[in-house]
Amino acid sequence: MAKVLCVLYPDPSGGYPPPLVRDGLPQLEHYPDGQTLPSPSAIDFTPGALLGSVSGELGLRRFLEDAGHELVVTADKDGDNSEFDRHLADADVVISQPFWPAYLTAERIEKAPNLKLALTAGIGSDHVDLDAAIAHGVTVAEVTYCNSISVAEHVVMMILSLVRNYLPSNRIASEGGWDISDCVSRAFDLEGMDVGTVAAGRIGLAVLRRLAPFDVRLHYTDRHRLPTEIEQELNLTFHESAAAMVPHCDVVTVNAPLHSETRGMFDDDLIATMRRGAYLINTARGLIADREAVVRALESGQLAGYAGDVWYPQPAPPDHPWRSMPNHGMTPHISGSTLSAQARYAAGTREILESFFGGTPVRDEYLIVDGGKLAGAGAHSYSKGG
Ligand code: NDP
Repeated sequence: MAKVLCVLYPDPSGGYPPPLVRDGLPQLEHYPDGQTLPSPSAIDFTPGALLGSVSGELGLRRFLEDAGHELVVTADKDGDNSEFDRHLADADVVISQPFWPAYLTAERIEKAPNLKLALTAGIGSDHVDLDAAIAHGVTVAEVTYCNSISVAEHVVMMILSLVRNYLPSNRIASEGGWDISDCVSRAFDLEGMDVGTVAAGRIGLAVLRRLAPFDVRLHYTDRHRLPTEIEQELNLTFHESAAAMVPHCDVVTVNAPLHSETRGMFDDDLIATMRRGAYLINTARGLIADREAVVRALESGQLAGYAGDVWYPQPAPPDHPWRSMPNHGMTPHISGSTLSAQARYAAGTREILESFFGGTPVRDEYLIVDGGKLAGAGAHSYSKGG
């Protein structure tokens, strides 16, 4: 019998469950690159239901308890003597979502002698100290691709929102105004702009594909170059580094994992090389951008807008300056937790648990750390020492 400790975000303020907005979800056949969707033996939830909050339990309770395991679900994850800390001491498996991350620091991993699996219900396992996981033989896995398209759609929405000054204009309409000059004095067309992505993995490439019909010039940088056919199909300009790319862009979107190479990448120096009035969209991880540098750039007008849904720490404190800086389009960390994405990552979480408890290999594309080293998707996208 194993103890599974699951950290999820709190239930809706109006109580659980919230009303179902739509009847069911569109059926997808597979992911865009052909990767198969999560394939557990069964699911015990209704696709389209809220699964990522405490009472949603990722639809796991019946499956785990029928197999004799213990499931503890909590949102209380930070501070001394949190419920998470109390249960971690004898937990075999920890499940957490990047939206409400249970930070598995080296110190916490040290205090969890039974821990064998740290499972990210989503993508991005930077809330786990990967070096400590490697040192302690903890397997780290995530549900690769489950919400990549969800985030790509969000990026496109945020680019258009900023460039066209949508959010302030919506506010003016809601508040009874008709101040067209105030709405349009910061509004532009995206058409003809140069748009670049830092990283062209699953999300970055999906953003490029979705933006191509807008008649923009597309740029990217990545550690590995995309196949020539894709570069030609989308008319992409490749740059050796973010530093080489950003001076050529009106809009920059960040779609790389957080690790030693990307932490603090968008600092004063890099932002100073961007075009004046450029837009920066970061849905990757908050720590990839220097918090104060972003505020300074918005205040000076070096950046015309900054949007994203990722912060550090999460949840962000009420006085976090990104809540009040000018011309921002920030949201809480939501882009990868649409109800559509939740159905996929809940199913993927169950698939990984079925493999883990059944003694069969976890899909290689889900692995980040295994057998004391970076593995699978992790070996490709992360760096040791990050
Ligand atoms: P992928 O692994 O498909 O893509 C990541 C890409 O980043 C890879 O192409 C990788 O390069 C590239 N990369 C890594 N380091 C660098 C670097 N130093 N410079 C340039 N490129 C780099 O992941 P996804 O696209 O699915 O997700 C990307 C990130 O987005 C996640 O790690 C996560 O942090 C974030 N995310 C955010 C979500 C949200 O809700 N806001 C939800 C899901 C993900 P290569 O493989 O070629 O070496």
